[in-house]
Amino acid sequence: MPKEVVLTGLRTNGAYHLGNYIGGILPILKLIQDNQASSYQINLFAPDLHSFTTPTNLDKLNQQTLENLKLFVACGVPLDDNNVNLYRQSYISAHSELTWILSNFTSWGEMSRMTEFKDKINQFKSGNQITVGLFSYPILMAADILLYDATWIPVGEDQRQHLEFCRNLAQRFNQRFKKDIFKIPADFNKQQDWLKRFEAPRIRSLKHPDKKMSKSIADPKGTIMLSDTSEEIAQKITSAQTDNLASIDYDWQNQPGITNLLSILAYLNSKSLSDIKQNWRGQSDYSNLKQAVIQSVQATLNEIQNSLKSVSDTVVLNHLKNREVKLNKIANQKLQQIQKIIGLR
Ligand code: AMP
Repeated sequence: MPKEVVLTGLRTNGAYHLGNYIGGILPILKLIQDNQASSYQINLFAPDLHSFTTPTNLDKLNQQTLENLKLFVACGVPLDDNNVNLYRQSYISAHSELTWILSNFTSWGEMSRMTEFKDKINQFKSGNQITVGLFSYPILMAADILLYDATWIPVGEDQRQHLEFCRNLAQRFNQRFKKDIFKIPADFNKQQDWLKRFEAPRIRSLKHPDKKMSKSIADPKGTIMLSDTSEEIAQKITSAQTDNLASIDYDWQNQPGITNLLSILAYLNSKSLSDIKQNWRGQSDYSNLKQAVIQSVQATLNEIQNSLKSVSDTVVLNHLKNREVKLNKIANQKLQQIQKIIGLR
């Protein structure tokens, strides 16, 4: 029996922030810490082709991709485990070809309903070009998933609609050709149960808790970068926007700033929502809460930053080369099956 595939990718168009860590990296680390990694094939990749969808410094892209992959290792992803594959999307060309094929099985209307696209273009400064790539990147994401028959895709709440699109597309394709060509990934809610998460994380900006923490928006005071110093972390959290209700409740509607801090605390300390609610029930001192968040974030990031110092480029590059050979074989096999079925072979 082939192992179930867990797949996650974090764009490399900039350095990672705390939202990326909690939404994208932490679920994989938990699998590894709980000794469950060997029950799965874990595909953790740099979706470098996705980088172009939002403004990216092309001179730095290649180096940024390596830096971001090194960060996974610093966070605790083991390179010597045969069940773990780190790779770069653009080194496996089947991703691009499958994207083109799937584009022709996707309707314009279906793509137009994607709210991430609308959110992103609303945040763009005037003068930023809105590209077809940004519009249709969920198809590339579907190809990333379907090429490897992945079941588990630990992503944040922002990717809910894209995952549902991928499932619909795969089901439609299978029905059209009356074959189980694509494995259908588990639905978004099932993914949360599997990950034992009380909800899919959506870490908000510390300054604008109505918006998600994001690398595409210039919001330096609202975004904690994984490279931030202890002082920067303390400054940003101390000045996080809260409210004047003088009560610590988990309530996204009425207290988004406080709820954002509580949720960061819960994820970083592997606490359940009820534990966190219980711990803070009846308390009203926001500076106590901020202090607790500062300590948790500093402890997490200090550890990552220290381990990063000993991650060597060569070791990571050797792993990448090795795994990209292996995954090219898997991806090409899948692609050939599809090429045959749609009449190209
Ligand atoms: P991206 O930076 O868009 O490539 O996202 C990479 C991963 O980080 C995906 O799993 C996203 O769901 C996750 N992610 C990005 N921003 C956030 C956020 N603010 N809160 C939670 N997860 C996030």
